[in-house]
Amino acid sequence: MIQMAHILADQWLSERADNVGKIKDAIARMNDAPVQLDQASMIAALIQEGLTPVCVKCGRLSSQNMAVGDVRPGDEANWICRTCASDNSQYGHCRCCGENLLFSVDELDDQGLCQEHAGEFDLSPEEEEDWESYIENVQKGD
Ligand SMILES: [Zn+2]
Ligand SMILES: [Zn+2]
Repeated sequence: MIQMAHILADQWLSERADNVGKIKDAIARMNDAPVQLDQASMIAALIQEGLTPVCVKCGRLSSQNMAVGDVRPGDEANWICRTCASDNSQYGHCRCCGENLLFSVDELDDQGLCQEHAGEFDLSPEEEEDWESYIENVQKGD
């Protein structure tokens, strides 16, 4: 397994590991790959179980672990297991981003929105005025 480590060095591959086809592509692109194409599904399982970073809270190693925050592949991230993520006092989801992104509660505002979506549903006083005059105009008709 050790000679495989360089293929698997990207923790983010684990996110896509359920797509065995992608792994086959990756192997096919490699010069003198140390593995065979028909080992792709075995590798997928290996990546999912072994390569997902452990939970920063409890140390659990699981393919279900999630990165915290709106992080992109290659970004540093804290990874959290499902059990720790289910602690609503610590972690939650943004109403806009949905269930696939996990945030720590300090990153969510009191509306349950991440920093990117904060204020999404608020109207500034100016916008409110704009809306009022817009509605008035619509009601007046052309
Ligand atoms: Zn945990
Ligand atoms: Zn969001």
